[in-house]
Amino acid sequence: MKEFNKTKFKYNVENYLKILFRKSIEEASEQQIFQAVSYSIKEYIVDLWIETHKEYESRDVKFVYYLSMEFLMGRVLGNMIINLKADETVREVLEELGLNLNSIEEEEADPALGNGGLGRLAACFLDSLSTLGYPAYGCGIRYKYGMFEQKIENGFQIEVPDNWLKYGNPFEMKREEYAQEVKFGGYVRMERDGEGRDKFIQENYQSVIAIPYDIPIVGYGNHIVNTLRIWDAKEANTFNLDSFDKGDYLKAVEEKNLANTICEVLYPNDNHYAGKELRLKQQYFFVSATIQRAVSKYMENHKDIRKIHEKVCFQLNDTHPTVTVAELMRILLDDYNLSWEEAWEITNKTCAYTNHTIMTEALEKWPIDLFSKLLPRIYQIVDEINRRFLLVVESRYPGDKLKIKNMAILYGGEVRMANLAIIGSFSVNGVAKIHTEILKERELKDFYEMYSEKFNNKTNGITQRRFLLHGNPLLAEWISKKIGDEWITNLPAIKKIADYAEDMTAQKEFMDIKYKNKIRLADYIYKHNGIEVDPNSIFDVQVKRLHEYKRQLLNILHIMHLYNQLKKYPDMDFYPRTFILGGKASAGYKIAKAIIKLINSVADVINKDESINGKIKVVFIENYRVSNAELIFPAADVSEQISTASKEASGTGNMKFMLNGALTVGTMDGANVEIFEEVGEENMFLFGLSSKEVMEYELHGGYDPKEIYDSDAEIQLVLDQLINGCYFPDHGLFNDIYKSLLGIHKNEKADPYFILKDFHSYELAQRKIGKAYRDTGAWAKSAIINVAKSGKFSSDRTIEEYAAEIWKLKKI
Ligand SMILES: *Cc1c(COP(=O)(O)O)cnc(C)c1O
Repeated sequence: MKEFNKTKFKYNVENYLKILFRKSIEEASEQQIFQAVSYSIKEYIVDLWIETHKEYESRDVKFVYYLSMEFLMGRVLGNMIINLKADETVREVLEELGLNLNSIEEEEADPALGNGGLGRLAACFLDSLSTLGYPAYGCGIRYKYGMFEQKIENGFQIEVPDNWLKYGNPFEMKREEYAQEVKFGGYVRMERDGEGRDKFIQENYQSVIAIPYDIPIVGYGNHIVNTLRIWDAKEANTFNLDSFDKGDYLKAVEEKNLANTICEVLYPNDNHYAGKELRLKQQYFFVSATIQRAVSKYMENHKDIRKIHEKVCFQLNDTHPTVTVAELMRILLDDYNLSWEEAWEITNKTCAYTNHTIMTEALEKWPIDLFSKLLPRIYQIVDEINRRFLLVVESRYPGDKLKIKNMAILYGGEVRMANLAIIGSFSVNGVAKIHTEILKERELKDFYEMYSEKFNNKTNGITQRRFLLHGNPLLAEWISKKIGDEWITNLPAIKKIADYAEDMTAQKEFMDIKYKNKIRLADYIYKHNGIEVDPNSIFDVQVKRLHEYKRQLLNILHIMHLYNQLKKYPDMDFYPRTFILGGKASAGYKIAKAIIKLINSVADVINKDESINGKIKVVFIENYRVSNAELIFPAADVSEQISTASKEASGTGNMKFMLNGALTVGTMDGANVEIFEEVGEENMFLFGLSSKEVMEYELHGGYDPKEIYDSDAEIQLVLDQLINGCYFPDHGLFNDIYKSLLGIHKNEKADPYFILKDFHSYELAQRKIGKAYRDTGAWAKSAIINVAKSGKFSSDRTIEEYAAEIWKLKKI
């Protein structure tokens, strides 16, 4: 195997500067240097990439295709260098050239082809798949504009387009030779073929050509390179000039428009279904291209389409790629002339579905009208899947209308994607123990009763290569010095660091590293927010998408309460805190945006108030994304994981904080439950209603927050401050928040996320944090134990489980 060659790399950096830009090192801009360095790394990787795929072919391996609308990769260069184990060499070369790797890394646009946790999970999975040596493709969309850039102006979120491809993407490779045609609209004509079989022919459709761009995914230290394949759209008639030849001018223009809009932008909704037609087009576009190419690739080396499930598995990341089920059926029926029964059996052995949420507003339900017009042949197939499924339901539960209501794919004029995904897949998994249990016992109870064998849990994970080795080099080095570096590819080995939890020298070293990371973040905050924060204060952090269920509102209301207390009792016992929040709100999510404004308004008032001697600072980090996340997690003392119990399927931010030695304040929700199982009561601050309690209230229409408001003067004061102009003179601005808590809106439940109900329990947990932090030794011990117990939460463990229990993949 070719080793990374220092001399060649050095030559390449200067050579690429010359070839690409006609520049010398001295003349080149930082961006040009980034490009040249990236191309030099890519040149080395391409050989490994070719080798890996030769090996796959010669062993005739099974592949998993991980289909996801989102891949939140974050910057590629630094992570790639680390995975190549070339970090030291690259740094040396660059230093000899008078360059610094860290500032070169800063030049890379953050590829933000995802909203939050779901897209980041896909990116962590790709890292683990390559590192573990599993044959895999990530398949998605090459959005021209990724997740919008968030600017904060006057405390309000402003969305700015993310033109991440402005300077080109040095790591991608266009693969014209694998282009696929994807058909939309038109109608289906039926005819009998010579053997008396029905043939279905889509006619008068609009075509788009899907062009794949491949990005190499490098495994850690193993020279294995898998592929992230993202599809771009191009108009069909530049491909074949048919339409113009036939004089169909309008159709040609329509096709051009379709091609130009389809991959334009990532929808910025997290855990929320918006029902936009273009979104369905995006879904079918990348699914059809992916499945067509996967089938062709399989048939290049195999004769029997009936055995495709032995070499291919399609994993559906949420319901977004669910048309996979019908698209594979279409290909097997229409292109390979299989019978329905054969096609269905194969499809069912090839597709697997991951459920990411139980929140009803996130469920994808397409109007049948829209769906059948856009995808006429696919709709016919879904209709037939539904018809046959309902026959099974009817024979098993004769006359049971409720079962049909709950499980039909087509119902009430809608196509219900989750039901299609469950019926068409051999595996249905949740993403944390508690989430899977809720699916089985409640949300998908009827399906579980019918198909219990399909259901399984795969608790999410994160890659320690990005979120410790790359993001927190000081802690990574400290750990490796103490216990060796096995943890990099086997995170459970990190448990040995627990031997140092009570060692006072180690505690001090650990807290020194934390302090340095806090200075690093404080510098970032000063540069971006102009706010001075004290690295000796407790850094209490909540960074994640803005969502009512994630309860950033609980956090800020508690901060308002603390501030009231400090004003009232200036001498009260209080350990200084820096509250750091960050996260984007979907562009159309009014109340989430009001909460951002509230956080910033409260921050303005508190940060300026000299009477509290800087005991509280509040910072809203603009444009939270993977690159600044890598600075934030290492600097956190406290990890805020405070979702309403039962609402957060897993969470992965919680794991990143733990890995970096933050203590969690959290509810018994998602993977918090499993973090609790690992670290125990003494190393975590639990509070709030349990998921059972929340669901019990919900069954009975909620609870009455008015009672709390009326009987609790402190809460009353905080809520009144929302609307009395105390934080922002525009009285109306926070009205919606106030009303959402007290239920003044008609037809809306009061405080549906139990913020007031959990307030005091949260306050108590926060008070315990203040006390605990004063005992530095005990705090350090707890933090080290958190790091030591993070072994379970590596995405390597998650991927091993998927590979063994769902995909049946073999490593190379
Ligand atoms: C991990 C991560 C998330 C998910 O955070 P949760 O707290 O699990 O919601 C979202 N965005 C980014 C940039 C992340 O790195």
